[in-house]
Amino acid sequence: MKYTPVIGLEVHVELYTKSKMFCSCSADYFGKKPNTHTCPVCLGLPGALPVPNKKAIEWCIAIGLALNCQIPTFSKFDRKNYFYPDLPKGYQISQYDQPFCVNGNITLSNGKKIRITRAHMEEDTAKLTHAEVNAKNVSLIDFNRSGVPLVEIVTEPDFENAVEVVEYLKLLQQTVRYLGVSEADMEKGDMRLEPNISLKRPGENGLPGYKVEVKNINSFKFVEKAINFELERQKELLEKGETPKQETRGWNEQKQATLSQRSKEEAHDYRYFPEPDIPLFTISREDVTKTKKSLPELPQAKLARFKKQYSLTSYDAEILTREKQTADFFDEAVKIGNAHNIIPKQIANIIINKKTDLEKTLPAELIRTIKAQTSRVTIDQSDLEKIVGEVIKENKNIVAAYKAGKTNAIQVLIGIVMQKTKGQANANDVKSLLENQLR
Ligand code: ADP
Ligand code: MG
Ligand code: ZN
Repeated sequence: MKYTPVIGLEVHVELYTKSKMFCSCSADYFGKKPNTHTCPVCLGLPGALPVPNKKAIEWCIAIGLALNCQIPTFSKFDRKNYFYPDLPKGYQISQYDQPFCVNGNITLSNGKKIRITRAHMEEDTAKLTHAEVNAKNVSLIDFNRSGVPLVEIVTEPDFENAVEVVEYLKLLQQTVRYLGVSEADMEKGDMRLEPNISLKRPGENGLPGYKVEVKNINSFKFVEKAINFELERQKELLEKGETPKQETRGWNEQKQATLSQRSKEEAHDYRYFPEPDIPLFTISREDVTKTKKSLPELPQAKLARFKKQYSLTSYDAEILTREKQTADFFDEAVKIGNAHNIIPKQIANIIINKKTDLEKTLPAELIRTIKAQTSRVTIDQSDLEKIVGEVIKENKNIVAAYKAGKTNAIQVLIGIVMQKTKGQANANDVKSLLENQLR
């Protein structure tokens, strides 16, 4: 029997603000001495009152806008009640029915649209460490993380396999980094992943009547393994005529398996109610427009522009746009290179082969280096003509595109010749040789 996987994602992203969500403690807690970033508010002491962090809310909305969400005019915070030692107040301030961002979407490279249900603002919990002190097993609590701003991004159950999930997650990570709102470092726990997985029987209408949630995964590799493991486990149960239990499971890397944590019967009733200590928000349309205008060019748009404007291959463009800093550097270097007859492909080659440390180099310096190299060693004219001839022969598709009127295709051919000559040719010479021979 052929079952269809149904997968939805909940992702937590910790924001990189200076202070915490509801107090003025420093949110930069990683690696700091335990319980040094605390105050009555984030320790949940009686009588302490929360004051929302404006920057965090702006950043949450920026994330929403980058994910094509709508930003409702009215929004509020709610209390999510549960009892656990990492939650000093006995509740987490979160958002329930009126989040800051709703109804977004992201398009994957296969053209599929993943709907974003919501992106809401909440606070992180304290960190529990289970240790042995004086031969006794104890649980230690560090409140430095308590109250750090957290954005939760929830998708509709639109994914059908782990490959789509990982593509989405990488894009989400790249996006929050482009926005400069989170380091999204998985190892530090800045980004935590929870896939919800079920299988639809052939002919079944609507969603399956159960779902399995795998909690708090902190790597793309593990999320992929957890999903594939679950799909297999659930398939076996369905084939035996059983319905998998609705439950929460965890990924166990040693066992290479998901293990049950709690079942539906033990599921929490969070008794959400509006946070009485924080007034409702009215988000002005002017502010939303302003935030929208301030967004940087986002990863997918940049990738498309690099391919088109600079005639780069998908491979090159993907590497150059992976990090915003590299992409910005490249844009700048191309601008300067233009005036010196240096083509984007030459610059791309140098950056991709990591011949320079971009953090210690200015774009103009890189161009100077390329110029010095190309003018120092020059290739013999007849050798160059031979290489140009070969490149034309070996790249029939590109030549055909050029002849069909896609004149930009010549940039690709120049790039290939430059690579073959190891940058010993002058890009302008190559261009006229190519044009001659193509004619
Ligand atoms: P909960 O209240 O249990 O967290 P939600 O309805 O908020 O449940 O959904 C949480 C996540 O689970 C969402 O990402 C949603 O898309 C996904 N989801 C809902 N139903 C299913 C299902 N049958 N199979 C897989 N994922 C699902
Ligand atoms: Mg959930
Ligand atoms: Zn505090």
